[in-house]
Amino acid sequence: MTRTYVVTGSASGIGATTAALLRDRGERVVGIDLRGAEVEADLSTPDGRRDAAVRATELAGGTIDAVIACAGISAPIPATISVNFFGVTELLDHLRPALVGSPAPRVAVVSSMASLQPHSGEMVEAALRGDETEALRIAEELTAQGPEVGYLVYPSSKRALARWVRRQSITPEWAGAGIPLNAVAPGTVLTPMTAGLLETPEGRAMVDAAVPMPLNGHQPPESIANLLIWLTGVENTHMAGQVIYDDGGADVSLRGDDIWSWND
Ligand code: NAD
Repeated sequence: MTRTYVVTGSASGIGATTAALLRDRGERVVGIDLRGAEVEADLSTPDGRRDAAVRATELAGGTIDAVIACAGISAPIPATISVNFFGVTELLDHLRPALVGSPAPRVAVVSSMASLQPHSGEMVEAALRGDETEALRIAEELTAQGPEVGYLVYPSSKRALARWVRRQSITPEWAGAGIPLNAVAPGTVLTPMTAGLLETPEGRAMVDAAVPMPLNGHQPPESIANLLIWLTGVENTHMAGQVIYDDGGADVSLRGDDIWSWND
């Protein structure tokens, strides 16, 4: 049976590839993006998120089978926390009632291996409290110190999102409603987001030092899209709150083999 997917960031990169693969399989896709999508909306603002959810639900006919949240930015600007964290979590809060009507509702979001990088703990806590004003205040303080410190907003947004997924996945609203909620954490994906950085040997060396990818190097968007599609398919019945590092081995290179002894 055809399923209806809402895909954010559907106009470019991972989101566009995911939407295209789903359409090739005969699924229905309602894309959300700033431009070039069924629903053109700005996920950096509360009004944009509400408007996007209302219009996507309408276009879907009231019931949504899956949401795949790819929209994101990596710039060292305050809006990065708004789009990458609140543009996912608040949008999902608005879309959840339409998911509950599906016989097999699923959600997958895109975090990043950057969730493992240095970040602002204060900003992560503010985001997890749902305090966008405070998260933006901290982001403004960081970005005012230049792009190097300002970059901290991106890993903070992705760590907060990964933690939100783990926290929410087992609650009555998600697990209790039969909705698997999971995240994918990519390494360096070849999309417009990274094209500029990877253009020069210096840029490539900087990226590769921060994101070691011993398995097959930089990855095509299909490597993430196919996993997002599995996570939101009917076959995924029991995966809850996982942050899957699909990253050419970056997570293992950085964290090593022992992620268990925290409980010894
Ligand atoms: P991309 O720039 O190709 O696509 C991102 C899309 O999000 C664009 O179409 C853009 O218009 C949309 N978007 C941005 N701000 C928006 C807003 N305010 N409202 C609505 N839509 C908005 O980038 P991509 O590489 O495909 O990234 C997709 C996701 O993957 C992002 O969340 C990104 O952080 C994450 N990610 C990417 C990489 C990588 O190496 N490319 C690595 C890890 C994680």
